[in-house]
Amino acid sequence: MCRNGPLKPPPVRKICQHCKKSSINRPRALCWSCYYTPGVKDLYPSTSMYARRGYGFGLTGGRPMPRRSTTAKPGTPEKIAVLMKRAKRGEQLWHPEDAEEVE
Ligand SMILES: [Zn+2]
Repeated sequence: MCRNGPLKPPPVRKICQHCKKSSINRPRALCWSCYYTPGVKDLYPSTSMYARRGYGFGLTGGRPMPRRSTTAKPGTPEKIAVLMKRAKRGEQLWHPEDAEEVE
């Protein structure tokens, strides 16, 4: 006779869908470090229906991606100028390949 009871499903662990190591503490089922790794969160579209509202600064609201990334460092006048051009064109303000602050 089979003495094994029904197999219990493993406990649900909320693990980052990208690195599959850290626990989820950012939106899109990502851990902190993956979420803030350039480009990673773009691989995982938001599942929240509330994330599609396009008001305010920095939200993507269906705007097209900027045609070019910029090498201007964040906070520099060059970068501000790039952001202003993007805003004028109705593009997203942030490009995943924009230069990042080096830590
Ligand atoms: Zn992760």
